[in-house]
Amino acid sequence: MSKEITSRAQDYSQWYNDLVIKGGLADYSAVRGCMVIKPYGFGLWENMRDVLDRMFKDTGHQNAYFPLFVPKSLFEAEEKNAEGFAKECAVVTHYRLKADPNHKGKLMVDPEAKLEEELVVRPTSEAIIWSTYKGWIQSYRDLPILVNQWANVVRWEMRTRLFLRTAEFLWQEGHTAHATKEEAMVEAEKMLHVYADFAENYMALPVIKGIKSPNERFAGAEETFCIEALMQDGKALQAGTSHFLGQNFAKAFDVKFSDKENKLDYVWGTSWGVSTRLIGGLVMAHSDDDGLVLPPKIAPLQVVIVPIYKGDEQKAMISHKVHGIMQQLKDLGIRVKYDDSDNSRPGWKFAQYEMQGVPVRLAIGARDLENNVVELARRDTKAKMTVGMDNIAYYIKTLLDEIQLHMFNKALAYRNEHITPANDWDEFVELLDSKTGFIAAHWDGTPETEEKIKELTKATIRCIPLDNPLEEGKCIFTSHPSTQRVLFARAY
Ligand code: AMP
Repeated sequence: MSKEITSRAQDYSQWYNDLVIKGGLADYSAVRGCMVIKPYGFGLWENMRDVLDRMFKDTGHQNAYFPLFVPKSLFEAEEKNAEGFAKECAVVTHYRLKADPNHKGKLMVDPEAKLEEELVVRPTSEAIIWSTYKGWIQSYRDLPILVNQWANVVRWEMRTRLFLRTAEFLWQEGHTAHATKEEAMVEAEKMLHVYADFAENYMALPVIKGIKSPNERFAGAEETFCIEALMQDGKALQAGTSHFLGQNFAKAFDVKFSDKENKLDYVWGTSWGVSTRLIGGLVMAHSDDDGLVLPPKIAPLQVVIVPIYKGDEQKAMISHKVHGIMQQLKDLGIRVKYDDSDNSRPGWKFAQYEMQGVPVRLAIGARDLENNVVELARRDTKAKMTVGMDNIAYYIKTLLDEIQLHMFNKALAYRNEHITPANDWDEFVELLDSKTGFIAAHWDGTPETEEKIKELTKATIRCIPLDNPLEEGKCIFTSHPSTQRVLFARAY
């Protein structure tokens, strides 16, 4: 089974596609740039969604739902946002098809069903949401509004990759409204920390929290905070963003409130989102040449049990024992499957679950029953061990935590080894081609320099880390003075 996967060394990009397709996460679709998320991949997304949703609610947010379509005039209202997303917008112009008189069996757009105003399929929902908030907000008593939406969005991306960059993707988008600048800023940073907490403690994905340079800032935001992760090929991935919107959308949609002194002011806003891209990041950060390696906390299946038997009698005995173990595991909240199907041999099943990244596999044969043991295999380290059946459920519960931590520490060590300082241009260029990963270098702070560096090397500023130490230096490109290093990388 594993031989069917291209190795990372051979072709990293093909390795990734193999894992997504053969691991059963997603499939290509009939629509350019859009993918089908298969049940196993959706199970993973549901687990991620459930954890995030709880975290949002614990920080005071509520879910709501806004329309998929944004009337073009609303979309245009915040100019920078509209301009930034214009190139990627799908637009609905008609609302009806009719039989094509010249081609039997074909349909054509009915010219009489042209919409008076075109509808933009949301690439992001600030416009439709702020046009709604205008009706919800009159005074300081109506604030804050802390709303999140789980939805699909469409961005007509030219170069697409399964999960990492698709034309339609699933995400959540938080949209909050506040009475003061300070409060909105606190919110934007708070949600960044929620994302980092989720990435590190659930996805076992170490991230750098930072601020985007103006070139990479969300269109319409005053400040974009982000979490950046590192993939195994040394490329960076923007894993989540949280935007301080200032009063930009409030001004565009005339959303004012009267404060305690009865003074009118524009409302302050934030928006923040993570998407199904996170699944791509998860795959690229942890998996190996034999398949997916999923962190236990969000793996759709945490334990799989495979019986090894000859004949119905042995199978019945093993199954009887396994049902007891299953119950103990379920009582501890562990997601477990017993694969006793007769359709495939144990070796094939082992390879299949290895490919799917199930963290723990148990195999039980007739001899194991006699000895009151099971054979346990860890997916992350491939270690195999024989474990006594008594207390097996508690043993596994502890082991799942250990696996989770081990995966995080491994990814962290890799990430930390791949942050390298560069002090001049030659060193920078050399590092980009040899070592990859993040390069910490001085930059003069101008968008022009960032743009030129991008043109020459395809590397962009991933972020200015939040905990960056100040340090006098010279820009690697222009030699102009700089006060801190920023992180450059080639990115997905
Ligand atoms: P943004 O609204 O541009 O700040 O993006 C919000 C989140 O969606 C970020 O975490 C992005 O990484 C993610 N994202 C942006 N574009 C895509 C895409 N084409 N496919 C999947 N995820 C995306």
